[in-house]
Amino acid sequence: MTFSCVYCGGEGETFVNMHWASRPGEWRYLRCQDCDGTGVITQVQHAAYTAGRLRRDRRVATGLTQHEMAQRIGVSLVDYSQMEHGRRPWPEGGETAFDAALAELSVRRSLRTLNDVLEERAKREGA
Ligand SMILES: [Zn+2]
Repeated sequence: MTFSCVYCGGEGETFVNMHWASRPGEWRYLRCQDCDGTGVITQVQHAAYTAGRLRRDRRVATGLTQHEMAQRIGVSLVDYSQMEHGRRPWPEGGETAFDAALAELSVRRSLRTLNDVLEERAKREGA
């Protein structure tokens, strides 16, 4: 079973900004490094991409930045970004640390909401 490359849309090449100091803003078509220009990726690559994408969506929903999540997992920002894009495997315990970070934020948010409710009620009853 083959999968169309999710990184280049199956085109085999990507349109990228070269960020050259001498020629700022120059764009070029480069061979896609994820599919090596074939436009096709393996099932393993596709699964890693999909898993990373789901994690990204969950992280964004909590408002946590890539930088903050990278710190919590103990990897560099560059490595974390690659992990979320499915280009680099997660380190041992990385997934657990990710889930723990999201769970902690979720609890904190609930407590904040609960505190707001209690404070409002205290104000109402105090008035
Ligand atoms: Zn590709």
